[in-house]
Amino acid sequence: EELAARITASLRDIPDFPEPGVLFKDITPLIGDGALLTQTVTGLARPWHGRVDAVAGLEARGFVFGAAVAVALGVGFVPVRKAGKLPADAVGVDYALEYGTARIEAHADAVPAGARVLVVDDVLATGGTAAAACRLFEQLQAEVVGVDVVIELAALGGRERLPERAVRALLTV
Ligand code: 5GP
Repeated sequence: EELAARITASLRDIPDFPEPGVLFKDITPLIGDGALLTQTVTGLARPWHGRVDAVAGLEARGFVFGAAVAVALGVGFVPVRKAGKLPADAVGVDYALEYGTARIEAHADAVPAGARVLVVDDVLATGGTAAAACRLFEQLQAEVVGVDVVIELAALGGRERLPERAVRALLTV
């Protein structure tokens, strides 16, 4: 697909970031390109018009794409943040990392019960973050209708971590 090819061409591979052995996909050239940013956001939003009540973006790069997708869909945006960053009453989910654990949070009143939530992030790697976000919204009695990412790193098995979720990627590598 043409958009996938353009995204591929824009990505910058950074070896050993943020730690040795990791090959990081840098998306800053993508978001720095106005035409490609627009096409990417349009592509993420395309199946969801009229089908979601809120878009949740995962800190930090998920904020960029998620907020733009929310505008494209005409719905509100919910930031999902790392522990301790949100000012008001928050709920959280702990999840396992390769070494240790992490916690993500959302405001307890971020979405009403029954809200249809689209989870957006830049990259799906192991899927741990996205799976935790899905649990977070279910804790709020919301319905996660899909997980939309720009790039899926298929070798890391993120999709297997999200069984029964509608996982959609603009580019799978
Ligand atoms: P996961 O929980 O799926 O292993 O990791 C996904 C999270 O880490 C996402 O929030 C994503 O932003 C970040 N991430 C992991 N690998 C990469 C990468 O290669 N490039 C970018 N841009 N983000 C990554």
